[in-house]
Amino acid sequence: YYQENTIIYFDGSFVKATDAKTNLYSQSLHYGYAVFEGIKSYQTEKGTRIFKAEEHYDRLRFSAETLQMPFTYTTSELVDLSYEVLDRNGLGDAYLRPLVISSPNMALSKGKESQLVIEAWEWNNGYLNDKMRIMTSSYRRPNPEAFHVEAKVSGHYVNSILACQEAKDKGYDEALLLDANGHVAESSGANVFFEKDGVLFTPARGNILPGITRATVIEICKKLGIQVVEKCFKPEEMRGADAAFFCGTAAEVATLASLDDVPFTGKWEDSLSSRIQKAYRNLVLGKSINEV
Ligand code: PMP
Repeated sequence: YYQENTIIYFDGSFVKATDAKTNLYSQSLHYGYAVFEGIKSYQTEKGTRIFKAEEHYDRLRFSAETLQMPFTYTTSELVDLSYEVLDRNGLGDAYLRPLVISSPNMALSKGKESQLVIEAWEWNNGYLNDKMRIMTSSYRRPNPEAFHVEAKVSGHYVNSILACQEAKDKGYDEALLLDANGHVAESSGANVFFEKDGVLFTPARGNILPGITRATVIEICKKLGIQVVEKCFKPEEMRGADAAFFCGTAAEVATLASLDDVPFTGKWEDSLSSRIQKAYRNLVLGKSINEV
């Protein structure tokens, strides 16, 4: 993620990642009280372009406000800083990781100050052809009555690490987590869709992080005339469907092979999901969605 000469933005200046120091009494370290984003930039025909930068930074500000963390950057300042981090590191295809950390405070009350970090590292966007084998996790997503699940809060990711590691330990590529009521929610770091008889289904909002990629997929479906149904469903309904995919900034549109060893039955290449995957790739590269 970083090398000796990697430059990051840290609390008002650009510094070497290896020189940046943080306070060990930060609430972020002790309690997971921090918010972050995951954003990608792409080398396009028109130069380096951060995909949906405004949407990501609006969400970062929403997450900080939800946790009552002091945060005064505007979205456009954040976008400018991000391009500068990319530029200073000579990055094109990259992953950007803005993080807002809390000031030293061991009490369980809100921090008085916060600091912004923007890190970026190279990301190889070569097509992921591997289809993922996933399992229903024994871990549930956090209950929305206990956490603000629509905010991207560092502490929530302890749940993601547990679920992802459980899946890997059992020989799967990723986990599919249910919500507190036993309905399908999302993966450790991506949203989920499945396809049945020409219709796409995805969990309704309420128990998920409403992904920017999920919203983009829904937009693509509107443009392509594909019906999307947002609803509650159990894993039984998804198992053996025609096709399914995870979607998120990092994963993009990632093909799923099976859920709990039950394969998705349609031919991926003929699926609507595959058309959506191609359309998404075109969009991130700044092309029209139907280009081949
Ligand atoms: N759910 C979770 C739990 C995530 O961590 C992510 C990645 N941010 C997503 C969904 C997908 O969100 P996005 O499309 O905005 O990257």
